[in-house]
Amino acid sequence: MGAMRRLGILGGMAWPSTADLYRRINQGVAARLGGAHSAPLIIWSVDFAEIEAHQAAGDWDAAGRLLADAARRLEAAGAEGLLLATNTMHRVAEVIEAAADVPLLHLADVTAARIRGDDVHRVGLLGTRFTMEQDFYRGRLADHHLDVLVPEEAGRAEVHRMIYDELIHGQVREASRAALLAVIDALVVRGARGIIAGCTELELLVAASDVEVAWYPTTALHAEAAVDFVLGAGPGAAATGARP
Ligand code: GLU
Repeated sequence: MGAMRRLGILGGMAWPSTADLYRRINQGVAARLGGAHSAPLIIWSVDFAEIEAHQAAGDWDAAGRLLADAARRLEAAGAEGLLLATNTMHRVAEVIEAAADVPLLHLADVTAARIRGDDVHRVGLLGTRFTMEQDFYRGRLADHHLDVLVPEEAGRAEVHRMIYDELIHGQVREASRAALLAVIDALVVRGARGIIAGCTELELLVAASDVEVAWYPTTALHAEAAVDFVLGAGPGAAATGARP
């Protein structure tokens, strides 16, 4: 067995999904290697209030500077790859990538690869307004030849509200679960063959068993990609000589 690669996580956006991600990555490494193995990780967990304020102000440059600085610190601390544990903040993925010399496991690429592997083409995307309405995420999915649907205005408003009012605080409410399932149903009626939980907290509310089409939970998918990276597959594998 080769040495594991150390992964740096830009987390706390928000903390409930980073906690879930941390557990999933460690469970994945333990399942693959057995024994007492766990994942070599460094987590930079932000004060989400700062990020949220920059989002609300549309000051993506300030948010990008903050996360680029964190990425440099993770790299200086020994991270051999980076994971940005939020869909929304991939709005500044290019700034983070430019700041660091190690690869970023881009969540839209990870998600698109799974969807394409399932031979699904038309997907519904759920997330914050930023993720559903701006081009940085939808466009990246489209680059992978996916046809991306988002909810109508009322659905987008409701999903955005439940993320910021409830899920980032770790609150799971039955009324919001029902509302989210109704939004999903509407996307399925419009032809979505899969649904992307494109906010890392949404899978705290809904599971694959609740959804009649394919379900793409981005925290779980990111955790799988992280395990592959730590165990030597994925970006930079050839450069480090780690096993495939
Ligand atoms: N965790 C969420 C996401 O995946 C929203 C929080 C944030 O704005 O970063 O988009």
